This record gives sequence, C-alpha cells and structure tokens, in this order.
Amino acid sequence: MGYLLTKKTKRFLENPDKYPNKSIYYKRIEAYSIAALQDLTFIAEHLPEDRCDRIYTRENFDPLVCSAILLGKDLPQNPRTERRYQLARLFAECGLNVCQEKIHSRNPDAVSLVAGAFNEVRQVIWSSIPIEDKRPLVTLECPKCKHSFERRIDPRAPITRCPKCTHKFKFTVETES
Ligand SMILES: [Zn+2]
Repeated sequence: MGYLLTKKTKRFLENPDKYPNKSIYYKRIEAYSIAALQDLTFIAEHLPEDRCDRIYTRENFDPLVCSAILLGKDLPQNPRTERRYQLARLFAECGLNVCQEKIHSRNPDAVSLVAGAFNEVRQVIWSSIPIEDKRPLVTLECPKCKHSFERRIDPRAPITRCPKCTHKFKFTVETES
C-alpha cells in the first residue's frame, strides 16, 4: 500500500468490527484523507504539467472517481447517496466547462450554438441534482445606489454585483451583535 495507509489501518478498514476503538481509527483516517486531498491539490497547482502527466491521469483517477466515489462498492444494492450525486454534479459541471471552452476555441463562429447545447445539458443536471447551498445568507447594501438585497455569499470571494444597478463591489461581512 501507499504512504497514507499503513498495513494496520488497512486491516482495520477491511474488518472494522473486530476493533473496539473504531472511532479513533475513523477519526485518524478522516484527518489523514483530508490532508492527503489538500496535498494532492497543492501538488497539482504547483507541479509542472509534464510531471502532472505522470500522476493526474485518466487511468489513475478511474478507480477512485468512477468506481469508489461515483459507483461505490455496495451498489447497486443500495441507493446512491446524496453525496455521490453532488460529486457527480461537480465533476459534470467542471468537465462541461472545460469541454465547452475547447470547442469554443476551435469553432469561434459557433459559440452561441455550442453554448446553447451545453446549457441544455446543464439545465438537465441542475434540475435533477439541486445543489445544497451552505453559504450564509446576508443582507448587503449597494454602495452606489443604496439598494438593499439578500445574497448567499462566500467570504472567501467578497465581490458581488448589485441586482438593481449592476454595480460591482467588494463587501465586508460584519457579524451581527
Ligand atoms: Zn446598486
């Protein structure tokens, strides 16, 4: 096995009921796995493309994404969980954006035709797998026209557009006292 998974942890995962201290193992596995995903993200962002070619390939992702994440070993006996659907939507949306850009760059004359076709697919996905928006709902005031409106915002991307005058502005989130 790899560096993340020790022989001991692997044995635990294969037979968790044999272990009395299950929650300790699970907590450790959760922490290691999230750290590993963050490491893989950092590596993908910084490694030269010709090196990424040896890691982030279709072949390497197929068992993880297609078999383990989307399909799951216990399927089709069990219904797919919402988590799997949410990931399916994420992968589909990101993939569609990339495919659309590729076609656009090669067929600049057909941009609106291609966009229409892709948007139809997006609508089908969005209506079948609605997204659960966990961002907080806040009331913002446009600094230009003073229009007040509600919006789900991500404090990590503090820029929004006024729905009335379309003025784009940066906001600060104040905690209500
Ligand atoms: Zn405004």
